Formats: sequence, C-alpha cells, structure tokens
Amino acid sequence: MCKCADQISQGMKETHNLDGHIIDYELLSGKSFSTFRYKTVNSKGKESTKDTFILHSFCPFCGEKYESKIEEIPHA
Ligand SMILES: [Zn+2]
Repeated sequence: MCKCADQISQGMKETHNLDGHIIDYELLSGKSFSTFRYKTVNSKGKESTKDTFILHSFCPFCGEKYESKIEEIPHA
C-alpha cells in the first residue's frame, strides 16, 4: 500500500502545526474512506442528519489500487 496518506498527514501537521488524527482509516482494511452526510424526514415530518461511509478501492491521492489485507478463505 502506498504512503500518500502518511506523507500528507505529516505535511499537514508540519505546515499547519496540527497534532493528532488527520485522515480517517477503516480499522480492518486500513483503507481510507469518504463520509457523506444527508438529511432524512420521518413519517412525522421530523428531519434528522445521517452519515454514511464509502470505502475507497483506490488511493484518493495517487490512484494506486488498495490491496486487501484480509485473505480470502478458499472454498472447500
Ligand atoms: Zn497513494
């Protein structure tokens, strides 16, 4: 897997004097993801905001395909 996210996080920390967590990763695969926020309205007309996540198949910075860390289980 490429090092883009690590390099960009490091650059952001140095340039903007930030500390801690910069880019989110999905825990199992180590892939980055995008967060989308949308509104829903229930049957009583009350609005609520929800988040959904889409896991990246490719690095959003250089386009390299993410390899799966989870090995496929062979079929018996
Ligand atoms: Zn990359």
